[in-house]
Amino acid sequence: MKDCLFCKIANKEIPSDAVFENEDVFAFNDINPEAPVHILVVPKIHITSLNDVSEENSKYISRIFEVIPEIARKTGIDKSGYRIVSNCGKDAMQTVNHIHFHILGKRSLQWPPG
Ligand code: 5GP
Ligand code: ZN
Repeated sequence: MKDCLFCKIANKEIPSDAVFENEDVFAFNDINPEAPVHILVVPKIHITSLNDVSEENSKYISRIFEVIPEIARKTGIDKSGYRIVSNCGKDAMQTVNHIHFHILGKRSLQWPPG
């Protein structure tokens, strides 16, 4: 999608600190980390938010969850634990309208979140 920040990051028009890539998925370090490990995982195709996941595109979401264990192992948080977050819409404070999954780890995380 034109003028989408994470489409541009996923196709490398905008540089990022890449952590993992395959045919369908791109993962990179968050520019403003909220934890020692803070990675964003996105599908290479544009999906705006969780509200837009459908039977047609859900395989890209599956691809994301298939690679999360590998990213967790690679970054040394698989045993200590981590949290996956996808903010959807205004109340959840989604700021980038391309679906993304935050991987947060390497510190003790509070619950419930703010
Ligand atoms: P949201 O608030 O939509 O759930 O998450 C968006 C995330 O994207 C934020 O954690 C923010 O720090 C991160 N972010 C925004 N712009 C950029 C960027 O240009 N590069 C990277 N690596 N992360 C970004
Ligand atoms: Zn996009």
